[in-house]
Amino acid sequence: MESLRFQKLSCSRVRKLSLLLLLCFCSEIWCRGPEDLEQNPAIQRFRTYLRIPTVQPDVDYEEAVEFLLGQAKQIGLSTRRIEFVSKKPILLMTWKGSSEEKLQSVMLNSHMDVVPVEKDKWKYPPFEAHMDENGDIFARGSQDMKVVGMMYLEAIRILKGKGWAPVRDVHVVWVPDEEIGGDDGWGKFYTSREFDELNVGIVLDEGDDSLFNNSYFVNYGEKATWWLVIQAIGVTGHGSIYFDNSASENMFKSIASINAFRDSQKALVRSGEKSPEEVVVVNSVFLKSGSPTPDGFTMNVQPSVVEAGFDLRIPPSKEMADFMNKRIAEEWAPKGRNMSFYFTFKTETKEGAVPTTTPDDSNPWWYLLRMAASKLNATLIPRLQTGGTDSSFVRIRGVDAFGISAIQNVPPLYHDHNEFMNGYEFLRGINMTVEIVDQYGSFSGSLHRVM
Ligand SMILES: [Zn+2]
Repeated sequence: MESLRFQKLSCSRVRKLSLLLLLCFCSEIWCRGPEDLEQNPAIQRFRTYLRIPTVQPDVDYEEAVEFLLGQAKQIGLSTRRIEFVSKKPILLMTWKGSSEEKLQSVMLNSHMDVVPVEKDKWKYPPFEAHMDENGDIFARGSQDMKVVGMMYLEAIRILKGKGWAPVRDVHVVWVPDEEIGGDDGWGKFYTSREFDELNVGIVLDEGDDSLFNNSYFVNYGEKATWWLVIQAIGVTGHGSIYFDNSASENMFKSIASINAFRDSQKALVRSGEKSPEEVVVVNSVFLKSGSPTPDGFTMNVQPSVVEAGFDLRIPPSKEMADFMNKRIAEEWAPKGRNMSFYFTFKTETKEGAVPTTTPDDSNPWWYLLRMAASKLNATLIPRLQTGGTDSSFVRIRGVDAFGISAIQNVPPLYHDHNEFMNGYEFLRGINMTVEIVDQYGSFSGSLHRVM
């Protein structure tokens, strides 16, 4: 009996064991539990940073700076606080390189601020960094971009622990106000003596999540942003009369022309002829005209002024800028139709183009990044960033910048409700960041490009 029962038990154990092994083999998630993540010090530090509500507008950065200073002290990085605008600190951490030569430094950039939240739309409070049973950590900034900053620090912590040291200086920089345009952060920093003195060769900044296991998106540039306002002026008069060249008539001609152009750009993407990065995006943002009354608009008067606003995103080349300038002047707001236009914002250019960083092996920084990814059997996918980042300041200054968030398998939730980062993926991202810092920090070769 005993032996029979033992046999039975052992059979069922074997079955269970093989099932467990199979599950482990199929998906490593079965081999790990959220309780391991809870105990993981890197996860704990990440969650602590996420709990600091550096939320726009009027951010109080002090708590974040204090936390980061504590991190730098633990890790052994020297620090410097730079404040171009009061209460808008830039925190610089430096790991001195061993080389005697004046090698260009590596800068790892992240912004401390996050965008506002609509609390009632969140599953968990957005500044509690709640972690669920899948290891998903919910918090504003968990993707954009506190995760990236913490990956830099954790990677440096690991490399220091291994006794590794860089030949060139590695700086980790924490900046304010990226989410409101960066005027008081990078907007002051990029032309400063302080930045010049750092002799920066490459800046790494935020990028986009990859949904795949074996690739990373790398942003090498940004489209130009143009905020365009078109104005039509015409005769005013009774609503019962056909005037030629009324303000509305002329504006509607422009809108028809803009819509036709918009459709053509959309069609190019839909047919696969062009990628979304290669086309001009134009979207209407406001239309303003008429004489308001307390309960609506005057209905029997034709307005003498009509204004329309458009958000344009234009591929960064000079050719595209010239093409669009001509189109706006000749077709969308021609003087002949009594129309005019102006821009409320236009991305800064250099010789007519928005500068980009070369994303191929002729650029050693690209090559080294590719080597880092290859250590994890991953490839790089170069692309243009859809939104604006601080990298645009860096590139205007003539310094290379790549946007890479070493995040895989997590849906992009930048500025969205329930933004989260998976804890396991965070740990994998740290491994990738270790490889990047290793490649960049060890590189002592020439920066002359291999053409
Ligand atoms: Zn960001």
